[in-house]
Amino acid sequence: MPDTSPLPSSTRNAIRRRLLSWYYASHRDLPWRKTSDPYRILLSEFMLQQTQVATVIPYYERFLKRFPTVHHLAKAPQDDVLKAWEGLGYYSRARNLHRAAAAIATDHGGSVPDTYDVLAALPGFGPYTTAAVLSIAYDQDHAVVDGNVIRVLSRLFDLNQDVTLPATRVSLQTLAQRLLPPGQAGSYNQAVMELGALVCTPRTPQCTDCPVATVCKARRRGTVGQRPVKPPRTITPHYTYAVGIVYKKGRLLIAKRPQKGLLGGLWEFPAARRNGNESLKACCLRGIEETAGVSASIKQRGSTVRHAYSHFRVTMHAFHCMHESGRARAAACEEVRWATPAEIDALAFSRANRKLIDSLKQADLLGFSATGSE
Ligand code: SF4
Repeated sequence: MPDTSPLPSSTRNAIRRRLLSWYYASHRDLPWRKTSDPYRILLSEFMLQQTQVATVIPYYERFLKRFPTVHHLAKAPQDDVLKAWEGLGYYSRARNLHRAAAAIATDHGGSVPDTYDVLAALPGFGPYTTAAVLSIAYDQDHAVVDGNVIRVLSRLFDLNQDVTLPATRVSLQTLAQRLLPPGQAGSYNQAVMELGALVCTPRTPQCTDCPVATVCKARRRGTVGQRPVKPPRTITPHYTYAVGIVYKKGRLLIAKRPQKGLLGGLWEFPAARRNGNESLKACCLRGIEETAGVSASIKQRGSTVRHAYSHFRVTMHAFHCMHESGRARAAACEEVRWATPAEIDALAFSRANRKLIDSLKQADLLGFSATGSE
């Protein structure tokens, strides 16, 4: 367990003072730092989870043009919200944000709650997001603990416990809370996260430029490269999928993934994960049948795309197919549709499927107009 006994006040005050003055002088001029609107702050916190600032900025700005208030977001169809999120990944964030907006609009008159338990009860609000919104939007004294904060604290205090263990996380939360300067939580939380993003980076920390270098235990002991402590990396699994691009009268068969689980609510072409030595063609036809309940015939091989998700990688082999028989129905999905190319452009697809769509466009195959039978 990390040592969370009360810090000497001189150390605590030095950390607070130096971090805050460094932050005021050096922080990045980010769009969500120019507002005190809790909805905008909340949106930035949802988008920034697991995602780099540079990636988030254009999404944040486009999203706010599309949904400028919590009421606009609450009223929007889920397909529109997922489309605005398309490419940002971790789509459960978008679904939760949408549900939270609906709850804020309906139950709280459109005002983001400023009470911990009320905010934490909304969809998608874990301890980090709750503390971030309350501290940044309302300046309440709640410490945030995200990946940047964990790295900074692990090095500053030379913590040698595995930071993925729940007990260590509890202790880190306690430590972060003890360091928080009362009344300055918003700026201080952002200062620690900014230090982790710009100076105390994972691989090449800039210790010579660090405002808290003189009180950093890991730097003094030469253990910076070993902090934070994490378990050894496991091998990332790799899965092979066969994907059916099924044509019928100028339309393509698409399926909406179930709400629960990976990429929930996004659209995709029917597909299956290959079992053992199953041929890719057999796998493709099985995927079409299992997803949408129709039979198809394979006409030609399509493109192959590769994509890395957070915990696994996929290779997707596409096949151009013709619909043969059966009325499309949502068998192993939420909804199926025979979509025009324009509809496909307007709906939200996963990044791997969007790569397939791009390859269809490049080959001028998206407007394919051969006829099939129903
Ligand atoms: Fe991180 Fe180096 Fe600063 Fe310590 S001195 S907090 S390791 S950047």
